[in-house]
Amino acid sequence: MMTNINTAIDTVWNLDNSYARLPDIFFSSQSPIPVSSPKLIILNYPLATSLGLNVTELESEYGINVLAGNRIPKDALPIAQAYAGHQFGHFTMLGDGRAVLIGEQITPWGERFDIQLKGSGRTRYSRGGDGRAALGPMLREYIISEAMHGLGIPTTRSLAVVTTGEPVVRETLQPGAILTRVAASHLRVGTFQYISNWGSTGELQALADYTIKRHYPKADDDENRYLTLLKEVIKRQAALIAKWQAAGFIHGVMNTDNMTISGETIDYGPCAFMDKYDPATVFSSIDTRGRYAYGNQPHIAAWNLARLAEALLPLLHQNEEQAVKLAEDAITDFAALYYENLLSSMRAKLGIFNQEQEDDNLIKALLDMMEKYSADYTNTFIALTFDKFSDTALDGTTEFTEWYKLWQARLDRQEEAKSSSHQLMRSSNPAVIPRNHRVEEALKAAVEQEDFSVMERLLDVLSNPYAHMPKQAEYSTLPPPSACNYRTFCGT
Ligand code: AMP
Ligand code: MG
Repeated sequence: MMTNINTAIDTVWNLDNSYARLPDIFFSSQSPIPVSSPKLIILNYPLATSLGLNVTELESEYGINVLAGNRIPKDALPIAQAYAGHQFGHFTMLGDGRAVLIGEQITPWGERFDIQLKGSGRTRYSRGGDGRAALGPMLREYIISEAMHGLGIPTTRSLAVVTTGEPVVRETLQPGAILTRVAASHLRVGTFQYISNWGSTGELQALADYTIKRHYPKADDDENRYLTLLKEVIKRQAALIAKWQAAGFIHGVMNTDNMTISGETIDYGPCAFMDKYDPATVFSSIDTRGRYAYGNQPHIAAWNLARLAEALLPLLHQNEEQAVKLAEDAITDFAALYYENLLSSMRAKLGIFNQEQEDDNLIKALLDMMEKYSADYTNTFIALTFDKFSDTALDGTTEFTEWYKLWQARLDRQEEAKSSSHQLMRSSNPAVIPRNHRVEEALKAAVEQEDFSVMERLLDVLSNPYAHMPKQAEYSTLPPPSACNYRTFCGT
């Protein structure tokens, strides 16, 4: 059997291991399990460069072997992280069951990013799983996470996908693959839940201090730094979820282990973008009750944050009643924070710069019409941006004609010229989103024919969705009716 080999010199990686310096309860040492014949499928050049990584060396035999888990860079201390989480409302112990954190890349600019290999083999947290991942889902994560980045939505990113040369058993045999995930950190709401359940108050405090240092250093000086931490996480999540809603993104599996403390979107399993506007939209095949439906995401976020607040209670105040009161107040603030963020995104989508009391109603009336006439969410905003409605479901309806007049009057009441509104709308309404039928088409070509060109073209147009270039126009085509009942799978 192959074993991982350490190399003495590493000019590619500059790794630190701050997480591995936390108490033992937080992780277990775990090398990736070597694979037989790694092959590089895709490498993210701009991301590699922004991490201070040498692209030529990453593409070398050594570089690919690192991305496959066969070689461990100097200064790496590979670990699997422990965490718990509420999955569809049920609390359970989880942990990295098929991923290994090889270390934290320190960029030449002093930033710190987790480098995680996903699909790298079994760990002590694997339970019944094989610890592996299939090529299709790893490319799907690559495409959607990079699309989110292009849209300006905070997200973990994808550095590379390699195939392993070993099949994985799913419904059918699939090529095995490993994704290199890059994240501000992999701290999750579930990490706090884990330590709150199975750790000591000292360990909980160590985790909170670590988090403050890594993500919220300003909280350090506050009198109640742990309350500030909670409030700051709530703020970031409120901003994140508003961005999801404005883009029509449905995460699909908002379990507490899939919610980060950094405010990045994580874990691209059954996620998908909504076509026609409907708050009840669910894509995930296992979400039979619509717990994670589009319109429910803000409520679920608040619910998840309440689980974080519970975990932090012993640090918020010595007096339990006082601690609960502080936590409740912080959670109550989420709804208003979220709505402020949402309104500001939606105003921008409509070319509105300032604030008026009635904006809320103007936006709601548009969304209600879109729901009533099954209008495509993304394309409606493109139509408004370019003032071309012939292809939209709203065209010619009395409600829309009336609404349009109100909207124009609203734009006339602000100082900015119509041309400025148009610019704002161009940079707030994407020409292209990763529509399900386009993603499927790219994955089919990649997995079944080893043709990666369809995916590369898709990634190219998704990288700058606000450019409104002619080559992006074909990507706004709606799915054929046969693809409208699209289903996603947690998967894997
Ligand atoms: P996810 O649905 O990707 O958020 O994963 C939930 C939990 O299942 C995490 O603890 C994962 O590490 C674990 N898991 C998912 N797929 C596998 C697999 N193929 N082998 C082992 N563990 C897995
Ligand atoms: Mg997960």
